[in-house]
Amino acid sequence: MAGEPQADCLFCKIVAGKVPATLVKETETTVAFRDINPQAPTHVLVIPRVHYADAAALAAAEPVITADLLRVAGEIAAEEKIDDHGYRIVFNTGVGAGQTVFHTHAHLLGGRGLQWPPG
Ligand code: AMP
Ligand code: ZN
Repeated sequence: MAGEPQADCLFCKIVAGKVPATLVKETETTVAFRDINPQAPTHVLVIPRVHYADAAALAAAEPVITADLLRVAGEIAAEEKIDDHGYRIVFNTGVGAGQTVFHTHAHLLGGRGLQWPPG
């Protein structure tokens, strides 16, 4: 069924507590944890508990949870004090854009200067 946990999905396993992660925040609908290979001083992944392959699929099926994801990312940015300088929320979508885990995740990046446009 749409949104159900996938046995072969790393981030479903993190949601279920079967794979360890450095948790930053948990809500009823989301889990946030530090990226294992950080690209900035603050690099947090915010994911929905439900499994959808990418941000657009999540938004089509679960608009309220999509809003939760973005709100939680903003809350963490404030808690990590990266909101004064500025931060970036990124959804890599598709292999060509660098997506490697096909469970929707927002990258929250900050704590250093961020170039525009990104590579
Ligand atoms: P993407 O390449 O956009 O799909 O992002 C996947 C991200 O997940 C990468 O930035 C990885 O460093 C990160 N990642 C992979 N495995 C883990 C893990 N076990 N815990 C935390 N982050 C992870
Ligand atoms: Zn998943």
